[in-house]
Amino acid sequence: MQELKAKGVSKGISIAPIRVLNRESEIAPRKSDSKDQERQKLKMALARANEKLEAIKVKIEGEESEIFSAHQMMLEDPEVLDRIDNYIEEGYVAEYSVFCAKNELKEIFNAMDDEYFRARANDIEDVLSRVIRIIEGKEGSDLDGEYILLSDELYPSETLEMDFKNIKGIVTLRGSVTSHTTILANNLKIPAIISLQIGDINEYDGKLAIIDGKEGDLIIDPSDKVLDEYKNKIEQIKIREHELLSYKNRPAITKAGKKISVYANIGSDIEAELAHENGAEGIGLFRSEFLFLGRASAPDEEEQFRAYKNAVNYMNKKPVIIRTLDIGADKQVSYLNLKEEDNPQMGLRAIRISLKDIELFKIQLRALLRAAAFGSLKVMLPMIISVAEVKKTREIIEDCKRELDEKNIAYGEIELGVMIETPAAVMIADELAKVSDFFSIGTNDLVSYTLAVDRTNNELDEFRDDYHPAIRKMIKMTAEAAHKNNIEVGICGAMGADPNMLDFYIEIGIDELSVSVSKVLDLKEMIINR
Ligand code: PEP
Ligand code: MG
Repeated sequence: MQELKAKGVSKGISIAPIRVLNRESEIAPRKSDSKDQERQKLKMALARANEKLEAIKVKIEGEESEIFSAHQMMLEDPEVLDRIDNYIEEGYVAEYSVFCAKNELKEIFNAMDDEYFRARANDIEDVLSRVIRIIEGKEGSDLDGEYILLSDELYPSETLEMDFKNIKGIVTLRGSVTSHTTILANNLKIPAIISLQIGDINEYDGKLAIIDGKEGDLIIDPSDKVLDEYKNKIEQIKIREHELLSYKNRPAITKAGKKISVYANIGSDIEAELAHENGAEGIGLFRSEFLFLGRASAPDEEEQFRAYKNAVNYMNKKPVIIRTLDIGADKQVSYLNLKEEDNPQMGLRAIRISLKDIELFKIQLRALLRAAAFGSLKVMLPMIISVAEVKKTREIIEDCKRELDEKNIAYGEIELGVMIETPAAVMIADELAKVSDFFSIGTNDLVSYTLAVDRTNNELDEFRDDYHPAIRKMIKMTAEAAHKNNIEVGICGAMGADPNMLDFYIEIGIDELSVSVSKVLDLKEMIINR
């Protein structure tokens, strides 16, 4: 038994075998004694990869499965196969041959002007890495059964590609409390711990482990006694969850009669169903960019419309605040061809991208307007620093309405709010309030920009102080500006769920707290018993 301690970032306990996420690693050039043998190895790996892709396609539906069909076609493409064979012919082992062919093809695709072809570089990476893993015998427990995922780092797009139902825990060596993978783990109620310090992660593949996402514990090869202890704890958690359900249909009102709505943060329409089941009184933040991650091209208007409409339907007339695309920083997509930046957190992201790529923005806004016909849908803008950005968006929304009118397509009215997550937005909150229908404070970014700490860098944790007086002042200033202008103010960053801040939020009249789905009922209980 080995007991490891790290930082818990998403609560919950589970017991499952570890599966190590193997990303591409350098493959050393090795020669083989038999070309035939290497060709045979390749043939078998290609067939196995094809089978795996077929199995994935069966699990998912619609347009998403086209990506995997394209991958299957690549496995038969003579351009790909000839390149691999050239290396085998030179005497190299199959895995090294695939590795070299993959790098060559990626380089060719990346150099192309056409956006479509550049996106193919990612597909090549994905499908040929799969073939390499198979040849190296590293596909292991891959996708079958339940597991605790162990990786040096995990990107949101990678998490989205996996079958969540099988992920019983996430353990990373890097990551941070406010990184998007952490957020996703919380929304999906998956226990997660970060900053684990261990040597070679591969040694742990396949070992049985216990993860405690609250305490930050990872216990490898637990003894029978410890296993029993944790099974017992899992039982206790279930009992507590049952107890909390009594708050599900109660409004969050303090004993003194102060109402603070408890909303949930989500990243997909399916999570709205989970939020509703967990007593959320609305959705305070639907991170729409999650629809854009982990795929080869942006979702079109229809696909976005369906997702937004589903969320609104799941919430059954309760308000749903959908944030427009907040891509950039730690959420990158290849097909937008954003340039590499030295400082992406302060770079071209969020509303800045939307206002540069108006067509992309309009697709999203039309989808949102159309979905608004089905319930209470509000739209919120990320990373606002000026009144002009909000006014410009309002003009674009009017254009979208005209376009929909011309085509006789139904739509609903939307309220437009802004996220207060830059110090600039706080300083001009009074002016912003005059052009906004509501505010929502994004404390994750607000703390980063105010205290100058990169939210993805866990080396800076000692400087990331949510209780810094500057942060309190900023939240208070924002609330005052909102109320002076008769609009509501919520908090949708992770600090919204901090019990130590609750009295302060009540005192300054915060109207709504939006927290991860897993924290909704705890927060309701706290407010009701205040
Ligand atoms: C925030 O910054 O607090 C926020 C809610 O947005 P995100 O975490 O998605 O940047
Ligand atoms: Mg933010």
